[in-house]
Amino acid sequence: MKYFDFRSDTVTKPTQTMRDAMYRAEVGDDVYGDDPTVIELEKKSAQMLGKESALFIPSGTFGNQLAVLTHTKRGDEVILGDMCHIVMHEVGASSVIAGVQLRTVSAEDGYMNPKYVEKLIREEDIHYPDTGLICVENAHSSGKVMTLENMKQIYEIGKKHEIPVHLDGARLFNAASALNVKPSEIASYADSIMFCLSKGLCAPIGSMLVGDTAFIERARKNRKLMGGGMRQAGIIAAAGIVALDEMVERLDEDHKSAKRLAQELAKIKGVHIFEERLDINMVFCEIEGIENDELFVTELDKRGFLVNGPEMGEYRFVTNFWTPEDAVLALAKAIEELL
Ligand SMILES: *Cc1c(COP(=O)(O)O)cnc(C)c1O
Repeated sequence: MKYFDFRSDTVTKPTQTMRDAMYRAEVGDDVYGDDPTVIELEKKSAQMLGKESALFIPSGTFGNQLAVLTHTKRGDEVILGDMCHIVMHEVGASSVIAGVQLRTVSAEDGYMNPKYVEKLIREEDIHYPDTGLICVENAHSSGKVMTLENMKQIYEIGKKHEIPVHLDGARLFNAASALNVKPSEIASYADSIMFCLSKGLCAPIGSMLVGDTAFIERARKNRKLMGGGMRQAGIIAAAGIVALDEMVERLDEDHKSAKRLAQELAKIKGVHIFEERLDINMVFCEIEGIENDELFVTELDKRGFLVNGPEMGEYRFVTNFWTPEDAVLALAKAIEELL
């Protein structure tokens, strides 16, 4: 049976062009720094974001934690939103790897009040930790895209207090597409940026950490410390190059089909769509009348649709390259029938 997978955009399998590029990829030993395909991917990534350097890393979580480790020292405090990926979905790694303390700002949909962020920055006092880093997330995993204005304000506060700003841009290109700006414009309001190749861009593995050359060189050594020095990594970097060349421009199609899905679901009695968080390829909703979530998920599975059960009471459906418009319409129809 053919399945349409709406669980996440991480489920996207590589395209045929990626598989061909991987097959043909020239490789070296990237720990020695002589894998030409990795070098090409790193150059391209830095260029697209308007920064000096980039580093190929195994995952987005790895990249965020590598950034935290590289920007801070043990015992530092990191200011970030309470619902951001680093806090919610990275297994508490910042306390294990960098040994930092996370100071969260209430930010359900990702929006952090710049005035409050500034208030949290520590002064010099024998009792206080040092504020070592501010982290922002765009697009936010709530489905919301932060405005450039908000990012700029936080970045300027960072500059004023000499505190670096790291952007968790797992879905940076989705944010750029939604805001209709170049990725480099978003990146200009952060000192380091992590973005994923392995989500909506369909590469099988990998993320990038981008920043200035001094930072990336320190991150390169920390990547080795964390066990992320990869050898003939050109094999997977080749798919990353295709992701940047061919898959960035089409992300608005996923955004359109998410809006289409929301439109169809909204017609169904008992479905409440969170319209204000429909910025990218994710539809969040509450569904009344489901007595057994597990059964609901199983029944959709039987009809050829993979979805996750609710998190904090909300269902999330993620559109991607492999969920064309007719699959989106069919999912809405299946949900209507089940309810
Ligand atoms: C997916 C995601 C990550 C982590 O990426 P992995 O490759 O799954 O480790 C980090 N931040 C955000 C906002 C994400 O959505």
